[in-house]
Amino acid sequence: MARTPLSLSDGPDSPFVHLCQPDASKSCGACCGLYNYVDSGREALLRRLRRRTALFRASVRGPEDLRRFSETLKASEDGARRYEVIHCCEYVGFLDEGERRVGCLLHPMQNGGLDMRDASFYGRELCDGHFCPSYSYLSRAEKLALLEILDDWYLYGVCVTDIDLVKEFFRRVSESAGEMPAPARFRHPALRGEARRFFELKLSWPFRSESTNRFGKYSFDGTEYSTHAIDYGALGCEPSRFDRIFLSLQSEFGSRDELRRAEEIIRSRLEAVARRYGELVD
Ligand code: SF4
Ligand code: SF4
Repeated sequence: MARTPLSLSDGPDSPFVHLCQPDASKSCGACCGLYNYVDSGREALLRRLRRRTALFRASVRGPEDLRRFSETLKASEDGARRYEVIHCCEYVGFLDEGERRVGCLLHPMQNGGLDMRDASFYGRELCDGHFCPSYSYLSRAEKLALLEILDDWYLYGVCVTDIDLVKEFFRRVSESAGEMPAPARFRHPALRGEARRFFELKLSWPFRSESTNRFGKYSFDGTEYSTHAIDYGALGCEPSRFDRIFLSLQSEFGSRDELRRAEEIIRSRLEAVARRYGELVD
C-alpha cells in the first residue's frame, strides 16, 4: 500500500521491480483508496492531496497529533466513496515538494524514522505487507516497460493496477513487432509517446460507462463483484478481438457503429506503437 518509498537497493539489475514507489517521477496510491472517491478526477485528487499534505506537515509532530488530523480531514473533506466497502485512507498525500509522488504520510521515511502507520485503518503490518496482484501477474519486462512509458502519478496509478490492459497492450505490440520490445526501447521519445497515447485512453475513453457500479471489467452489486460482460449479441455482432481492452476501459456501446469506431481507435493506437518500434529496430 504505497508503503515503501524509493529504495536505493532496487536498481535496474534487481530482480524485484518496485511498483509502489518506482522512481522520482511517479508512484501509486491506488490500494490506499486514492481512486475510490466519487470525484476521483485528477484535479479533485490533486487539491485533496495538496491540502492534506500541507495540514499534515503543519500539524503532525507525532502519533499524538494524528487523531486531530484525521478528525479535521473527515470534517472538512468530501469523503463520499464510489464503493463503500473500499476504504479511503486519509493518510495518502504527496511525498515530495514537486507533487510527483503520492504515498503514505505515516511512513517512517516521511517522518525521520518514526513509523506511525499503526494509527491507520489497516494498521502497520497490513500496510507494509501488501503487494497488489500486479506484482505477481505482470512480467518483469512488462513492469519495467510500463515504468519507462508513464511518468505521472495519476495515470500511472490507474494503469499499473489494470493487469488486463497492461498485458493486452504488450501482447498485441509483441505480436505486431515479432518480439517483446526491450523495456529500455521505450525510453525513445517517439515510441514512449505513442505508447503513452494508448494508456491515456484510460482517462479519455469516449465510450466509458459512467455507471457507478462499474470498475474496469468488474461490476459491483452492493455486496459482491462479478466480471462484467459486453452484450455483443445485442449489438448484432461477435465478441470483439479487443474485448479485454474494452472491459478495462469500462466500455459501453450503444450501437454496432460505436463498437466499430472504438475498435478503430484501439487498432490505430496499437499499430502506431508497433510502427514506431519497427522504425527503431530497422
Ligand atoms: S496498488 Fe499495487 S502498486 Fe499501487 S500502491 Fe498498492 S501495492 Fe503498490
Ligand atoms: S496508512 Fe493509509 S496511506 Fe499509509 S500505507 Fe496504509 S492505507 Fe496507505
